Amino acid sequence: MEKENCDCLSNEAKLLHTSYPAKDVHNALSMPVYNAVAYEFETAAQMELAFTGKSPEHVYSRISNPTVQYFERRIKELTSAAEVISFNSGMAAIANAIMTVAYAGSNIVTSPHLFGNTYSLLAYTLKSFGVEARFCDLTKPDEVKAKIDKNTCALFLEIITNPQMEVADLCMLSDICKTYDVPLIADTTIVPFTVFHAADFGVDIEIVSSTKYISGGATSLGGLVIDYGSFDWQHSQKLNYLINQTTLSAFSAKMRMEIHRNFGACMTPQVAHMQTIGLETLSVRYERAAKTCKCLAEQIKKLPDIVSVNYPTLPEHPYYDVSQRQFGEYAGAMFTFDLASREAAFSFIDNLKLIRRATNLFDNKTLAIHPASTIFGTFTEETRRSMDISQNTIRISVGLESTDDLYNDIVQAIR
Ligand SMILES: *Cc1c(COP(=O)(O)O)cnc(C)c1O
Repeated sequence: MEKENCDCLSNEAKLLHTSYPAKDVHNALSMPVYNAVAYEFETAAQMELAFTGKSPEHVYSRISNPTVQYFERRIKELTSAAEVISFNSGMAAIANAIMTVAYAGSNIVTSPHLFGNTYSLLAYTLKSFGVEARFCDLTKPDEVKAKIDKNTCALFLEIITNPQMEVADLCMLSDICKTYDVPLIADTTIVPFTVFHAADFGVDIEIVSSTKYISGGATSLGGLVIDYGSFDWQHSQKLNYLINQTTLSAFSAKMRMEIHRNFGACMTPQVAHMQTIGLETLSVRYERAAKTCKCLAEQIKKLPDIVSVNYPTLPEHPYYDVSQRQFGEYAGAMFTFDLASREAAFSFIDNLKLIRRATNLFDNKTLAIHPASTIFGTFTEETRRSMDISQNTIRISVGLESTDDLYNDIVQAIR
């Protein structure tokens, strides 16, 4: 049995030690994987209580599972959130969060600088359900304010956009959200919650693709919705009827009791087990990869064939100050750089010997990709231009190799 936690523990300790809800019959040191679909009851009366939410027993693993619940509980302790709900991918977390707040006739204010599938979800998928994505420049407060109206159900953003590396000024944007009573929903996948405390910057709902850093080296897909309980849902036309009906916020109540179970995109116990172990090494891996990323960005800037390097901790970066304020010494373990042409970018990718040609972020291995022809490859050139996706850009997701080995591979691939 692990120790009971108290507030005095550091994040490093909390990553490793979160007590289990009940003692394991075999004293297993790690939370067992409950590979069960159904849970048995002694009486009809007990079943009624559990199925109507009046007692906390698990009833069916799509709705809740002990191993998954334990993973959510660890994240809740780490982030001091009001509620954490896990999903089977980052996209499922985003889609479910939006389905919780959006309604036909509502709109979401966001930037065209988004992860490709998120852009597609907002621009195309939700459109046919009567939900409008209002794209604007989130670095311009007046543009943002002009897009918000009484049917705005959320301001949605990514804290550092990929591959543009635009850093959201969260204090400025959360002030606007507070003025207009709009919840701020942020995809924070790029910087883990062990170093970036989203709630301190006014984020109401945090979304993480746990496939990336948390999974512990691309072991599994997963997503998290982290509700800080900070938004007053009285201001939501869709959720205000739920105020004071449960101990959860109206958002988490709607998500837990309806959206999460109806769409069925639940995390599996096997994944929760792997990601719980991934969580234990999150701080150490992030620090190592982010430090290497920063060093590499500084070093390759000096190479003659590199037109520009894009990483927010470089002093000349347009978002240097806001990045330092929000994320500290490092701004994630991903950077991009531009070569002279699409041909030069393709040839660079083809020449790599150590760095792998693959799409993912924060694998233990360093990965390279040409975003314009892959992640954004099915968009029209016009849409790509509106998203500021250049044919000359290479994206590097930095893993755990040494800086020297990675630098040497980049140098030889450019030549
Ligand atoms: C990968 C990623 C997603 C999607 O997550 P999946 O787990 O692949 O579904 C969403 N947002 C960002 C910023 C990502 O990097």
